[in-house]
Amino acid sequence: MHELSIALSLVEMAIEEAERRGSRVIAAHVRLGVLSGVVKEALMSAYEMASEGTSLEGSALIIDEISALIHCAVCEQDRPTRRDERFACEVCGTPATEFLRGRELELAALELAAPELPTLENR
Ligand SMILES: [Zn+2]
Repeated sequence: MHELSIALSLVEMAIEEAERRGSRVIAAHVRLGVLSGVVKEALMSAYEMASEGTSLEGSALIIDEISALIHCAVCEQDRPTRRDERFACEVCGTPATEFLRGRELELAALELAAPELPTLENR
C-alpha cells in the first residue's frame, strides 16, 4: 500500500524531530497536493497504523489539501486543472506539462506538547 510507506516515513520524521526537541507530538500537519496521487482518507488511516506503538500513537494528522495549478502552454496562463481530467487545463483542456502547485506531499509543521511547567504551589 502506497500510503502506508508514506505514512511510515512521515511518522519517522515526526518522531525524530520531537525527540530532538525533547518533546512529544500532539499533531502533525501535512501539505497534500491533489495531484500527489495520495488519497487523503487512505493516508489518514495509514498514519494511524504507522503511529501505533510509537510515541506518535494518538496524535492527530491534519491534512492541508493543496489545489492544483498548472501553467498552460496554449493559454499562456497559470490555470487550475479540470476536476475530471486532473492534469488538463481547466479552460482549454490541454494536458499540463508544467505543474506549479498540487504535487506537494510534505510534513509542514508539528504541534509539540508544551514542556511541563513548574507548579506554583511551593511559592
Ligand atoms: Zn489552457
